[in-house]
Amino acid sequence: MQKTKDIAIIGSGLVGSLLAIYLRKRGHEVTVFDRRPDVRKVEFSGRSINLAMSNRGWNALRKVGIEDEIRELALPLDKRALHVNDKPLYFQKYGKEGEAIYSISRGVLNRKMIDLAEETGAKFRFEEKVWDVNLAEAKIYTGESEKAEWQEYQFDMVFGADGAFSRVRHKMQRNSRFNYSQDFIDVGYKELTIPANEDGSHKLDNASFHIWPRGEFMLIAMPNLDGSFTCTLFMPFEGEVSFEKIITEADSEKFFSKYFPDIKSDISNLTRDFFKNPTSAMVTMKCYPWTYWDKVALVGDSAHAIVPFYGQGMNAGFEDISVLDDLIEKFEDDWERIFKEYQEIRKPNADAIAELSYRNFVEMSSKTANSQFILRKKIEKHFAQKYPEKWIPLYSRVTFSDKPYADALAIGDKQRDVMDKVMNVEGIEAKWETQEIEDLILKLIQAH
Ligand SMILES: Cc1cc2nc3c(=O)[nH]c(=O)nc-3n(C[C@H](O)[C@H](O)[C@H](O)COP(=O)(O)OP(=O)(O)OC[C@H]3O[C@@H](n4cnc5c(N)ncnc54)[C@H](O)[C@@H]3O)c2cc1C
Repeated sequence: MQKTKDIAIIGSGLVGSLLAIYLRKRGHEVTVFDRRPDVRKVEFSGRSINLAMSNRGWNALRKVGIEDEIRELALPLDKRALHVNDKPLYFQKYGKEGEAIYSISRGVLNRKMIDLAEETGAKFRFEEKVWDVNLAEAKIYTGESEKAEWQEYQFDMVFGADGAFSRVRHKMQRNSRFNYSQDFIDVGYKELTIPANEDGSHKLDNASFHIWPRGEFMLIAMPNLDGSFTCTLFMPFEGEVSFEKIITEADSEKFFSKYFPDIKSDISNLTRDFFKNPTSAMVTMKCYPWTYWDKVALVGDSAHAIVPFYGQGMNAGFEDISVLDDLIEKFEDDWERIFKEYQEIRKPNADAIAELSYRNFVEMSSKTANSQFILRKKIEKHFAQKYPEKWIPLYSRVTFSDKPYADALAIGDKQRDVMDKVMNVEGIEAKWETQEIEDLILKLIQAH
C-alpha cells in the first residue's frame, strides 16, 4: 500500500476524472480543479457530441471496476457503412465476429465519470481556473483572471489533465530541454445532427459507423441512444470546397444536396446546425518530458493531442492511466521511478498513435472510396481470415488489442510493404482470391 499523498488533478475531463478514480482507489486524497462549470449542472445545448470507445478504453475502465456501468451508455458499431454517390450502401466489418467500437456521448460519459469519482471520495472544484504551477513545490495558483489575486494551494503532487492547450504543460515549456511541437491541419470540423424518427428510432443503421467519403472532405455519423446521429463534417478551411465557401443558407443547401443526396430529408436540420455550431481546428501536439521530478506529470491530451481520425485520443489517455497504475503497483512509493518509467513507456506509443491518426486522416478522406483501396482491404481481410495468427490487420491492432501502439505502427508498415507488392501483381483484380496470391503473401511475410 502506498503512503497517502495529497494530489491535485487539473482538468475534470474524461482522463482527469478517470485518474481521480484510480488514485482514490489507491487511498490518496484527490482534488480536481476545472475552469468550467460542473458539466452535470450545465443544461444540454441539444448537441450530443459522441466519441468511439474501443478496447484500450474499456480495459482501463474494467481495471478500476466501472466498465459495466459505462457499457450501458454505449452503442456497439461493428462495421463501417460507406455512402458513396451512385453506389449502393457498402458495409465493411471492422474486425472479427463480436468485435466492435462503441459510440458514446461525451457529455453523458463525462457526467458519469465525475459522479463515479465523487462516489470514491474525490473532491471537485469547478469554475476554478489554474493560472500557474510551481513545479518544484507542487503548488498551484487559481483565480478569477490572470491579473486578479490568486489563491495558492500546496499539494504533494500535481497531474496536468488539462487538455491540448494545457496550462501545466505551458509552465513546463519554460524549462530548458523541454521539447514541444504543434501542427494544425488545414482541415476543420463541424458537428451536425440527424434527429431521430418521430417514433424515436434511428434513421440510419444504428450498428454502423457511417462515412460519406468525398475526396478532400468527408462526413461521418455515429448513433446516439436517443435515436439521433451526431455527424461530423471534416472539410478544408479554405479552397474550392471548403468552410469559407459556404456563406449563405442557399450555399449550405446546395452543398448538402449535391454531396449527400441520401440524407436530403435532413438538410434543413444540417443547414441550421451548420450556422449554429462552431467550426473547430485539429492539432497534433507532442512534447517531452511529461513529468517533473516526482512532483508533476501530464496525462491525456495535455501530453499528446492527436487528430481524431483513429478514434483513439481518449482511448490513449485512458491507457496512460492504466499504465501509470501498473507502475504504482510495481514501484509503490518510488514516485520518481513511477514517473520516469511512465513517460518512457508511453511516449513512443503516443508518437505512434499520432502518426497513425494522421495517416488515417489521409486514408479516410481520400482512399476509402477508391476501388484499389477497397480491393487491398478485401485481400488483407481474406488472408487474415485464413491465417489469423499470421495477419492481424492494422486497424484491429490499434482498436481491438492492448498491445503497444508503437508495435502496431511497426508491424503495419511491414504489412503495407507486403500489400504494395501484392497490389502490383498484374491482373490482381481477377486473381486476388487465388492460391498464387496466398502463396505470395506467405512468402513475403516470411522474408520480413
Ligand atoms: C472531433 C473529435 C472527435 C474525437 N473522437 C474521439 C473518439 O472517437 N475516440 C477517442 O478515443 N477520442 C476521440 N477524440 C479525442 C478526445 O476527445 C480527447 O482525447 C479527450 O477528450 C482528451 O481528454 P482529456 O481529459 O485529456 O482532455 P479534455 O477533454 O480536453 O479535458 C481537459 C479539461 O481540463 C480543463 N482545463 C483546461 N485548462 C484548465 C485550467 N487552466 N484550469 C482548470 N481546468 C482546466 C477543461 O475545462 C477540461 O474540462 C476526439 C476529439 C475530437 C476533437
